[in-house]
Amino acid sequence: MWGLKFLRFLWCILAFLLFVIVVVAWGVEYVPGFLKAPWGNKLGGVGNLFGLLALYTAVIMTVIGVRLPLVERAFGLDRLIRFHTALGPLVLLFAIIHVIFRTLSFSASIGEKWSWDFLFQFFPYSWAISENALVAARWGLLVILLSVTAAKVARLSRGFIPFRIWKPLHSMIYYGIFTAFGHSLILASDVKRFPLLVPWAGLALVWGGCCVYRLNYLLQRSRNFRWFLEGVDYETHDVHTCRFIRPEGQGSFARRRPGQFMIIRMKSRLWGWSDPHPFTISCPPGSDSLCCTVKGVGSFSKKLRTCRPGTVFLCEGPYGIFTPDFEREKNLVFIAGGIGITPFLSMMRYVRDNSIPVSVTLIWGNRAKKDIVAYSELSRFVKSSDRFRVVHVLSEQKITDKMREETAEDGFFWEQGLVTGSVLKKYVNPDNASFYVCGPAPMQKMVMREIRQVFKVPPGKIRRELFVFY
Ligand SMILES: Cc1cc2nc3c(=O)[nH]c(=O)nc-3n(C[C@H](O)[C@H](O)[C@H](O)COP(=O)(O)OP(=O)(O)OC[C@H]3O[C@@H](n4cnc5c(N)ncnc54)[C@H](O)[C@@H]3O)c2cc1C
Repeated sequence: MWGLKFLRFLWCILAFLLFVIVVVAWGVEYVPGFLKAPWGNKLGGVGNLFGLLALYTAVIMTVIGVRLPLVERAFGLDRLIRFHTALGPLVLLFAIIHVIFRTLSFSASIGEKWSWDFLFQFFPYSWAISENALVAARWGLLVILLSVTAAKVARLSRGFIPFRIWKPLHSMIYYGIFTAFGHSLILASDVKRFPLLVPWAGLALVWGGCCVYRLNYLLQRSRNFRWFLEGVDYETHDVHTCRFIRPEGQGSFARRRPGQFMIIRMKSRLWGWSDPHPFTISCPPGSDSLCCTVKGVGSFSKKLRTCRPGTVFLCEGPYGIFTPDFEREKNLVFIAGGIGITPFLSMMRYVRDNSIPVSVTLIWGNRAKKDIVAYSELSRFVKSSDRFRVVHVLSEQKITDKMREETAEDGFFWEQGLVTGSVLKKYVNPDNASFYVCGPAPMQKMVMREIRQVFKVPPGKIRRELFVFY
């Protein structure tokens, strides 16, 4: 855990240092004599600052987007994707401000108020390299606009634009960033010399390295992450567990931790690889196969239920940092809503298989008893050791005396309603408790509030996993 925190701190410091280098280099170049400079130069200087900031943000976005293992391990892919998504519009904003200021600067230099020619010249008038660089950059900006918009619209419309359409559009951003680097080097004389050459070269190196890493990853992906469906186990009326095997061995999954997830795609003869879908690895590290326990909510998750053994899948991962530090955290409190149980299943199985000396209290909200996954296995857990305690909270099905009688031997506690403060107070031992929450967003919000109120735990101390990336 400390290692992770240190790694996170290190990445933040590096990103901040790069930012400082960009701003200081710009300051050294432009601040002396700024006030006395003609308007055209002033506007151009400010435009260049925003150009550099656009490059900087694009590079950070790329570092996050290419899923470098050391970055992913520090922050977790879900958090990185959220951050990556937030940075897209910022790159666009900085690039647009850069263009506006450069246009104003150009207009001032030729004695006009605003020259539209400069902005909308999409085809070169001559073979001059500088003119072609500008034309390429204008197309680059259009591509960035298209790329960011495609990803945003796809997300906001919740899948209305198919992955197959928005993803290639989004990937064109690499061209946009390439032209941004290229045109600045060709056109901006200040970038060719000290001090601005330093941040430019640093950013270009980092970006180039990320591109090479990603290309290499994509070229090897089909070979490194190809798994076969071994079988499907039916858990409940709408939840199933898919087991995958890989004859060559577990590959990157050999170092997985309980609670991590993978991103899977199914291969079809007609369409090739399907859209990617994230699922928690529900079997613990050390098991021969990879499993995911899936609730059928849409086309992909429902299709998995009827998939034939032998179907080829691309399983990428492991990702995520939703894993307790079993050395330091001895009193684990897991709070799950519905299918949000999957990371906890993997953690509890891991604790059992490795006889880890921790106490686990699982409080799990479901609509009805028929929705409970791994019922018998959990019952065996609680009966085998008093370190496990499982509380089922049912929101829709009435818990009758008959039901209590029938389940008396199973070792569970039963509560009616939602996971409220009074349920938590009744079952949780707050001494050195580490809280983990996974479930739908409204449930998480409520549970976080209750934990804060009942146990006075600050929100930063409660670890949570959302089953959506945004
Ligand atoms: C880190 C992580 C781990 C996960 N682990 C599991 C797991 O262990 N088991 C499991 O069953 N699921 C898990 N999920 C959720 C799972 O990835 C999705 O349920 C699945 O990808 C849905 O695909 P689909 O094609 O079946 O459904 P879709 O057709 O894509 O969508 C199903 C439903 O979700 C809605 N939806 C789609 N996109 C969004 C969005 N961006 N925001 C809000 N709603 C949206 C749709 O409107 C629809 O009602 C996990 C998700 C994440 C991010």
